[in-house]
Amino acid sequence: MAQIAFLGLGIMGGPMAAHLAKAGHTMTVYNRTLAKSTAWVAKHAGKMAKTPALAAQSADIVFACVGADRDVEDVTTGPDGAFSAMTTGSLFVDHTTIGADTARQLAIVARQHGIRFLDAPVSGGQAGAENGQLTIMVGGDTVDFDRAEPVMQAYAKRIGHMGPSGAGQLTKMVNQICIAGVVQGLAEAVHFALEAGLDSTQVFDVLSKGAAQSWQMENRTATMADGKFDFGFAVDWMRKDLGLVLDEARRMGVTLPVTALVDHFYSDVQKLGGKRQDTSSLIRRFRR
Ligand code: NAP
Repeated sequence: MAQIAFLGLGIMGGPMAAHLAKAGHTMTVYNRTLAKSTAWVAKHAGKMAKTPALAAQSADIVFACVGADRDVEDVTTGPDGAFSAMTTGSLFVDHTTIGADTARQLAIVARQHGIRFLDAPVSGGQAGAENGQLTIMVGGDTVDFDRAEPVMQAYAKRIGHMGPSGAGQLTKMVNQICIAGVVQGLAEAVHFALEAGLDSTQVFDVLSKGAAQSWQMENRTATMADGKFDFGFAVDWMRKDLGLVLDEARRMGVTLPVTALVDHFYSDVQKLGGKRQDTSSLIRRFRR
């Protein structure tokens, strides 16, 4: 069992850290808002630290799942960041969805500190984190992947080593391109089914056994039809992710017209007050 630090106990990080504690690792957790750390240690085996550096100082592996690029920089290289406190040869695994370039830069800075770095964004949402069924896309060196992989099994159903630093984040971008198109398609489909007077539960029960099947169809159409949008992955985070995708595509000279349009639609949802609602709230543009 390893000494582990976990930075960021949000919707995703809290349950992921809980799975590590349950697996028997020695846990030290850090969260910016202290109340979440206090609540976490009251429920799980482990102690809390007041800064990323204090959490990370004796860890073999430091995991993070915070917000965006700037936030990962804060908890790694910022004042009281983990990098300067970590012991030589220890490993930092970042589960946050950030830019591929930021991930590559952090891997370089980590090496300068004598530590190792993997970008390891996740897919599977709040339910995936809670049930320990996440998909993890990893970028970095094989030797580091081999070290982190058995530990991450505590909350994963599939872990892929996608290539060198940044490849995990690029794979996550592919995932978000797929999700943007699928969720917009389902928003239109649910809207159409309801306007046509069909029983949408029956419609998607039948369709989910055919070629239109998707995780989003099976898990979100019923709640979209009911106007319930409290299922974890926030519109603000999706806009952050689509921004990363569109920046990367621009750099590559690739056009992604549907992704760009859906990003714009999500900005409409933000204006409707849906910033923290989950991504299926795209349907609110049709059904207010
Ligand atoms: P969340 O619930 O908002 O949690 C974010 C956590 O990061 C909070 O604990 C927050 O601390 C901490 N944090 C943010 N900025 C920080 C900073 N500058 N310094 C220190 N701590 C900071 O978000 P989430 O839904 O867990 O998502 C986390 C990451 O996973 C994001 O990159 C997201 O895109 C990605 N992701 C999320 C999902 C999902 O379904 N939710 C799925 C896949 C990937 P406070 O408590 O102080 O705010």
